[in-house]
Amino acid sequence: MKRKKPNELDRIIQRIDVIEKKRPSHKEVLEFLKDIVKQQYKIKPLINVEAVDINKEMARLQLREGFSLIDKKDIKLNMDTATTLFKKICRAIQRKNKKIAPEIKKINQALRKNEIELEEIFKRLLAGDNGYLDSIGEKTGLNKWLLISLAKSSIIPFFEAYADRLKGYVELEPWFRSHCPVCGSEPLMGELRTVEGVEGVKFLVCSSCSYEWRFKRLACPFCGNSNHEKLRYFHTDADGKAYRVDVCEECKKYIKTIDLRELRMDVIPVVEDMGTLHLDIIAQKEGYKRGVSGILEIEELEE
Ligand SMILES: [Zn+2]
Ligand SMILES: [Zn+2]
Repeated sequence: MKRKKPNELDRIIQRIDVIEKKRPSHKEVLEFLKDIVKQQYKIKPLINVEAVDINKEMARLQLREGFSLIDKKDIKLNMDTATTLFKKICRAIQRKNKKIAPEIKKINQALRKNEIELEEIFKRLLAGDNGYLDSIGEKTGLNKWLLISLAKSSIIPFFEAYADRLKGYVELEPWFRSHCPVCGSEPLMGELRTVEGVEGVKFLVCSSCSYEWRFKRLACPFCGNSNHEKLRYFHTDADGKAYRVDVCEECKKYIKTIDLRELRMDVIPVVEDMGTLHLDIIAQKEGYKRGVSGILEIEELEE
């Protein structure tokens, strides 16, 4: 499902430019994303995913039991490559974003003084150890959201490389679960599409490897609630029906969903996510929590 074309970076940049024009208030975060994506694409050719030990039969059994093909913890990062990417992203953003530059400087200083260690941060991110990540923010006084988003952005190309290698195994089995069949991560966003004449088929987009898989039309991907009386969605007049927020009254979480039937154009979920942070603000003001955070935490946007 994941789209891969040689000019993918150009497509992403173009899409960012389009959204920036439409929503100038999001320009800063979208430029931030642009710098990250450019560096990620420069490093991608250097990422060599080792032969993953998996066979078709095993993959089928694993998926049937509800296990993703790989576990996040098993992802083998090349620490040098991830560290290089981290530094390149830092430099690119420092050059362009005067507001964030001093914060990045502090992160670099902490790295030099060994107050924080990238390798450890990457590992804890893979392990989903949020407690550790919170604690470095408190201990060092560094901007936690920035550190996490830079670190996340430095390991995402590895996830994508794994997904490219493994996605062929997934088609073998229908998968309607709420976690990614490739890497087990939770979904970043939802999509509604028309598939073979069937309207409004729901897909979820992985928050780590960008793989997209089918999901039940009426169900909460975070708690499994499928009682339609406790599921609702809203959209804003400004955005029309193309972007909506699906909320669950059971667990009080939400996920943003793009209706591709309305949008009628090629979308890039991570860009659409950053371009619709205003919807996060509305949802959170209404008391809902985002199921999985994107590259940026919303509190930063509201400053
Ligand atoms: Zn995934
Ligand atoms: Zn729920």
